[in-house]
Amino acid sequence: MRVVLVATAVVATVMSPAADARAPQQGRPARVQIALDAKTRLLVVAPHPDDEVLGAGGAIQRVHTLGGYVHVVYLTDGDGYPEGVQKEDHIEAPAPSDYRGYGRRRRREARAALRTLGLPTDAHTFLSFPDGGLCLLLRTYWSEHRSAYRSPYTRLNRPPKSEILVPQTEYRGEDLTQELAEVIGDFRPTMILVPRSEDQHADHCASWFFVSDALEDVERVHPEYHTDVVNYIVHWNTWPFEGESRRLAPPPGLRGGISGWMELALTPSELQKKRAAIQTYQTQENVMRWFLDGFMRTNEVFSRPAPPHVVLPSKRNLCCDR
Ligand SMILES: [Zn+2]
Repeated sequence: MRVVLVATAVVATVMSPAADARAPQQGRPARVQIALDAKTRLLVVAPHPDDEVLGAGGAIQRVHTLGGYVHVVYLTDGDGYPEGVQKEDHIEAPAPSDYRGYGRRRRREARAALRTLGLPTDAHTFLSFPDGGLCLLLRTYWSEHRSAYRSPYTRLNRPPKSEILVPQTEYRGEDLTQELAEVIGDFRPTMILVPRSEDQHADHCASWFFVSDALEDVERVHPEYHTDVVNYIVHWNTWPFEGESRRLAPPPGLRGGISGWMELALTPSELQKKRAAIQTYQTQENVMRWFLDGFMRTNEVFSRPAPPHVVLPSKRNLCCDR
């Protein structure tokens, strides 16, 4: 089902307890509101634990509160972060076991964050692919023609057995596509939120291409199935720190696509829970609280740019130069 967009004024008139919060503030231009309702089945694709809350912590709550369904799929455990592990474990040269332990900690934080947002305990899937390595899977480590990618941090070349959805999955691009297709085919989202290809973190950029590829697989098997792919963004130059407003403006220099930039105005309660959910990511608060704080705003912004048509595996470098 393709979810249609409704102008702010209409939404504010006909819907919901959050109507006041969604009204445009005086003197500010009305922005199109993203349309979410009780029929929404929202799949949030998070390259790392915390992206789902930063980009869509309000949207997750809204869909759940309206009676829709939410599922979050984490592509990596966020374990390839030397500065984070050094800070957390007070060691200069972390060992593979330290990186794995850090990933487990971030997963615990993710579960706590989703609980804080009100989701049930089974509303997420960890795929445990390599943090910092997704862009390499789009081209070099695509298929079994060569050995699987091995994380330089955890030294793993496949997800833990307990997290594998498709048998024989290793750190290869086509395996990640298949695992994502499994998640999408099972949950049948009406809307997928995923970072856009311009996001300046290589894993975020790569996640867009993997979702796109997985969707093609799903639609090949289920031709009647269509979903609405909408983008959020986390990393873009100095965004989201332009201006001092509590209201988040779209990243400068990026277009919103045919629908223009869309937003979700959060109620005070949604903002409070989003803030609390961000704060469950203590490992991240310890290293970049200033950045996380940048997303504690009264709204979230989304876009729907035209999809770049790319066939995987890619012959060129799509995201690794970020
Ligand atoms: Zn991330």
